[in-house]
Amino acid sequence: MRSQTANGKIPILEKSVVVFSQNYLPLCKVNIKEAVVLLVTDKAEPLNIGTGDEWQVTVASPSLVLLVPKHIPLKVSSGEPVWKLPPVNRREVLRGDRHSFQYCGSKKHLTLDHLIPRSRGGQHTWENVVIACERCNSRKGSRTPKEAGMPLNRQPKAPVHLPIAFADKFWTNVQANLE
Ligand SMILES: [Zn+2]
Repeated sequence: MRSQTANGKIPILEKSVVVFSQNYLPLCKVNIKEAVVLLVTDKAEPLNIGTGDEWQVTVASPSLVLLVPKHIPLKVSSGEPVWKLPPVNRREVLRGDRHSFQYCGSKKHLTLDHLIPRSRGGQHTWENVVIACERCNSRKGSRTPKEAGMPLNRQPKAPVHLPIAFADKFWTNVQANLE
């Protein structure tokens, strides 16, 4: 039909689609045809960032109408390692300055302290594990910091991969600009 051939005009095929990695980092631009291939082979998926003009319509064949978005994250590896949350262990918790040394602030005889003690169902997670000296750890015993009257210097937080933090900020800004 005429409308379909009209959709196949060069201006639409010349439009580009931004391909993102599994970590939502922009990788490259591809044309509509390449994007359609990635979508129909299930190597990528549409990403709707809510701009309202996310979709670029294209017609792949007379029987198949495909909506191609402006952004597609890959569902397969682009060769870039997929970042995973590091395990909660002494080395990882100590790494960098993610954590301050809790309670008295001593940097000697350090141990891992569970805010909600394991004996009371506390989890071995980034949100529940801090670095403290052995003395504070045993003084706190099987109490929470609040119960023990031992306030935290800083709330523990799971580490964030820098590029992901950047991408997160980028998308938050995109969203904010739309509101
Ligand atoms: Zn201490």
